[in-house]
Amino acid sequence: MTEEPAKTAREADSPRSIPQVASGMPLLRIDAVVKTFGQYRAVDALSLDIQAGEFFALLGPSGCGKTTLLRMLAGFETPDSGRILLDGKDIAQVPPHQRPINMMFQNYALFPHLNVRDNIAFGLKRAEMSKSDIKARVSEMVALVKLDGLEKRKPDQLSGGQRQRVALARSLARRPQLLLLDEPLAALDKKLRESTQLELMELQRRLGLTFIIVTHDQQEAMTMAGRIGVMDAGRLEQVATPRELYEGPRSRWIAEFVGDINLLEGQIETSDGAYPMMARRIAIATGEAGTIYVAEPREPLIKSNLCVAIRPEKVKLSRRAPASDDARAINRLEGVVTDVSYLGGMTSYKVKLDSGAVLRSSMANTARLDLDAYSPSQRVVAWFSPEDCVVLEQ
Ligand code: ATP
Repeated sequence: MTEEPAKTAREADSPRSIPQVASGMPLLRIDAVVKTFGQYRAVDALSLDIQAGEFFALLGPSGCGKTTLLRMLAGFETPDSGRILLDGKDIAQVPPHQRPINMMFQNYALFPHLNVRDNIAFGLKRAEMSKSDIKARVSEMVALVKLDGLEKRKPDQLSGGQRQRVALARSLARRPQLLLLDEPLAALDKKLRESTQLELMELQRRLGLTFIIVTHDQQEAMTMAGRIGVMDAGRLEQVATPRELYEGPRSRWIAEFVGDINLLEGQIETSDGAYPMMARRIAIATGEAGTIYVAEPREPLIKSNLCVAIRPEKVKLSRRAPASDDARAINRLEGVVTDVSYLGGMTSYKVKLDSGAVLRSSMANTARLDLDAYSPSQRVVAWFSPEDCVVLEQ
């Protein structure tokens, strides 16, 4: 990689333009990439485009191939087949240290014998940058990640959060076009993780860089990323914005993987018109909870075995049945509260329906003294609107 002249901390603070790429091309194109270890396909013909300036998160269960994919982008693994294009150019033959891509590892991989300043300067020295430029760039990075005054400390004299900042400064020092972050916040406690998430987002926006982050933590992916790719067994199951992913999961697996959800299995019972599967309101007979009305599905339903998915916060509880003409409450199921979990901002309820199914409902605690809270053994009506149901083919 050719180094640009060092900029002052002030310049680094001003918003940067997003890197220019050949028109119409994404910054990064992953094209049918396969990576096998022995007989095992860790990454299975995966394709994905990432635009310049994106904050993209890869989410998925342990062992699904997230790290292997990042390692191929960084050049630490070679794909068996497929292409990786950066700025429209195939980077297969470019060694890791010459790629304008940097990877920040899970364990930060700081050099224990080097102080903060020398850790950050390490890659710049290897790139044979001049001493004065290195000095200016390191100062700029120290200011950027707010480590002023700690430059002479060694990693074991820093807190977990400070070590994370050194690693971040080191990976940003050479101004990569693309920064890959593998579980960067896993070692931090919840509070520090949340504040660091915001700092990372601010930094990414301010520098106009492209980030791909790997995380196990859905909340983290939803908070930080503009788009999320959910991986399973080496493949991308869905790529969408956080809202699309949560409100419109494409499969039962995604619905269960992302957030909490109630799932009721059933078959189409009645619908109007010549194209029954496209009717506005469809009645689905679920063995567990009787007939559930759902709004028009996003795509025509082909299979007869379906699954109605409804998020717990969309299930309302009340002591009495809502007014019979309330179209939002057309799905109303009676039952008994069996479990109450107070979680601070909200309370989660389990309701055993008279039909035998169990439905979960979560409600925001909007008042300090909630006189409307429900208790175990209380009879309630659980209700939800057809528009809040997602129909998934099993
Ligand atoms: P985690 O979230 O636990 O870090 P991951 O999604 O990042 O998991 P990978 O580290 O990419 O998963 O591993 C994907 C699969 O490939 C796993 O089954 C793993 O055991 C296997 N694997 C990874 N590296 C190698 C290797 N060098 N040799 C053999 N198998 C490997």
